Amino acid sequence: MTSGVPAVFLDRDGVLIEDSGYPHLEEHLRFMPGACEAVRRLNQLGYLCVVVTNQSGVARGLFTEDQMKAFNTLLVRRMAGQQAVIGAVYACPFHADALDERYRHPDHPDRKPNPGMLLRAIADHHIDPARSFLIGDRPSDLEAARRAGVPGFRFEGGDLDDFVKDLLGH
Ligand SMILES: [Mg+2]
Repeated sequence: MTSGVPAVFLDRDGVLIEDSGYPHLEEHLRFMPGACEAVRRLNQLGYLCVVVTNQSGVARGLFTEDQMKAFNTLLVRRMAGQQAVIGAVYACPFHADALDERYRHPDHPDRKPNPGMLLRAIADHHIDPARSFLIGDRPSDLEAARRAGVPGFRFEGGDLDDFVKDLLGH
């Protein structure tokens, strides 16, 4: 039995793309500086890049789950166009105050700070938590990482590739 693959869990809004407030349309898709370069660098080092994103905009009725999925697909395609490979995307549409009861849950296991998305990704992709980490911009991201047993690092803006280079000790 091998030990699994190393992965980097990446929050979406505020890490890979600008957090303009519930981005979901093509015109909202603006990469953070260095985002594609960072993912490319991580790919080259053998990391599976996995997006883990809370998307309560669905629960709040701001956009549909299909729109959310289409936006995530667009993000993955745009990155691929820059030779930056996102291996998987996990998105949580649930929220305690959802308008639509299908998305109402008092504390969904997928919604960060809960670790559900990370734990599913670890199982789905045979990820080795001991060689993996998370980058997020909020305390809830870091708490989800902690609960999943991976280190979490807080990105507070600037150039994501510079941040990743520093993390990797370059
Ligand atoms: Mg964020």
